[in-house]
Amino acid sequence: MAFSQKVLSLAADAERELADIFARIDSISFENTQKIMNAFKEHRVSEAVFNPTSGYGYNDRGREILDEIWADVMGAEAAFVRHSIVNGTQALTIGLFGLLRPGDIMFSIAGKPYDTLDEVIGNTGEAGNGSLRDFGVEYRQADLHEDGSFDLDRIREVLRHEGDRVKVVFIQRSKGYLNRKTLSVDQIGEVIKFVRSLKNDCYIVVDNCYGEFTETREPCAVGADMIIGSLIKNPGGGMAESGGYIAGSAKAVELASYRLTSVGCGLEVGATLGQNKSLYKGLFYAPHTTAQALKTAHLAAYMFGERGLGFDVEPAWNEERYDIIQAVITHSPEGLCAICRGIQAGSPIDSYVVPEPWEMPGYTDKVIMAAGAFTQGSSIELSADGPLRPPYTAYLQGGLTYESGKIGIMSAVEEVLKSKK
Ligand SMILES: *Cc1c(COP(=O)(O)O)cnc(C)c1O
Repeated sequence: MAFSQKVLSLAADAERELADIFARIDSISFENTQKIMNAFKEHRVSEAVFNPTSGYGYNDRGREILDEIWADVMGAEAAFVRHSIVNGTQALTIGLFGLLRPGDIMFSIAGKPYDTLDEVIGNTGEAGNGSLRDFGVEYRQADLHEDGSFDLDRIREVLRHEGDRVKVVFIQRSKGYLNRKTLSVDQIGEVIKFVRSLKNDCYIVVDNCYGEFTETREPCAVGADMIIGSLIKNPGGGMAESGGYIAGSAKAVELASYRLTSVGCGLEVGATLGQNKSLYKGLFYAPHTTAQALKTAHLAAYMFGERGLGFDVEPAWNEERYDIIQAVITHSPEGLCAICRGIQAGSPIDSYVVPEPWEMPGYTDKVIMAAGAFTQGSSIELSADGPLRPPYTAYLQGGLTYESGKIGIMSAVEEVLKSKK
């Protein structure tokens, strides 16, 4: 892979200007690594915790100790982390079904949740599938204001009128694939204080996907009762082969554990089949890997944005980040496709494949995706995707190592330049 002088010098400019930001990212990674190593030390992690169990998985000390470590690292009373949770959506489903009962209301206060939750909630999909709605759980939503702040009036109104039925107040930390700002842990803390001033007896649940280890605190530290995420994003450190986690108050985690396995069994079962080591190792790597992805995102914003190719980017190259997603608004189908082609060509795996837009089940427009990852669908590894509709936004995320992330981004910039000729 050879890069043009133009691209090489743009990357060099970017790194010069990003030096202070990169140093700050390293210091966050250091603090989080310290937290994790302290937890390993405190819980006396030894080689024995990597031993596999089979069958029921009773007395799997590796699993039990990892749960305790996860709770400590997330600033929570309790947690569970399992390789057998297939994705973030399932982890969220476990959490929501664990807490909500017929007649309850789930109230999302940061706008529409992630697309895959629509059917879980029952806002889309067929009646009778077993969604929350099928079980008599109702849904309310407060959208964020244009500037990304919470709509406190709407939150107050819902809690005043139907507060006695609101069991879960739901907050999605990352913007996901929406056109809004990602929430910082400080912002989440402020809105939790506001909700608590109106209502105490509800669970505040945070979809923590893509946010882990981008700051030195997680939402449990500011009062969230439950946080939920996927191991093929930040907290798996690129090492976990699959999985998800839930952390939070002892009561909330206990209730969720009854949906993970069964009422009564909870966390006492679950064979780990030799996956413990990659989960421990993944957590150990996670702050560093997240830092690599954050640096890659800053570099992308610089090279695609006003200082480089001139696209609109969100967030800007020098803006503080609370998740690993970088949006590049290309305003043309060719721009979006060129970015995806370049990312694919600059990947360690499947670099010879040329991505094409296709009709994906559940999506109205064609979607193009670039992913050359060791783990299928892993978005802590560099990937890019976007729907083929205006404004033709490419969403980039990940980068297992900054070096490989940089190669991917330079390859994408090169491809866009080529397509303009
Ligand atoms: C990734 C993600 C999810 C879950 O998606 P899966 O593909 O099921 O892992 C949920 N919410 C947000 C904000 C996400 O980024």
